[in-house]
Amino acid sequence: MFSQVLVRQIECPKCGVKSDTWVQFHFGFCRVQDFEVGDKISWQEDGNGGEPGHRLVVTQGWGDGCPGCGGPYAPPPVCDPGQFDIFVEEDVITHAQWATGEFDYERDAHPDYSCQYILLDDYPPYMWPSLRHGKRAVK
Ligand SMILES: [Zn+2]
Repeated sequence: MFSQVLVRQIECPKCGVKSDTWVQFHFGFCRVQDFEVGDKISWQEDGNGGEPGHRLVVTQGWGDGCPGCGGPYAPPPVCDPGQFDIFVEEDVITHAQWATGEFDYERDAHPDYSCQYILLDDYPPYMWPSLRHGKRAVK
């Protein structure tokens, strides 16, 4: 099972086309719940992906390639244009983007049988201006 988040007007870094796209992920309680960026995920007794209690994580998401170019085809280890990175801070979905290749889930993911996610200290610096309310993670 999975949850999914609607990402509105995501801009393709390759061709610039903007689109609305659904991205599936498996962090938090997963029973095909629909979210938007800014929504808070929940946790239940079981049926969760990942693990509660982490301040900031990036987790693997799956969706579609850009409708404009089919890409954006990030460099390895990303080998699928439908792969996304989804950021969750204090259980709130703060950002989703086509995977850039900077997060290597095979290598760095928190050990978890059901969900690929990586613990972060902060967002990548290039994201700071685009975060909601210009907010940065509080260390
Ligand atoms: Zn594109």
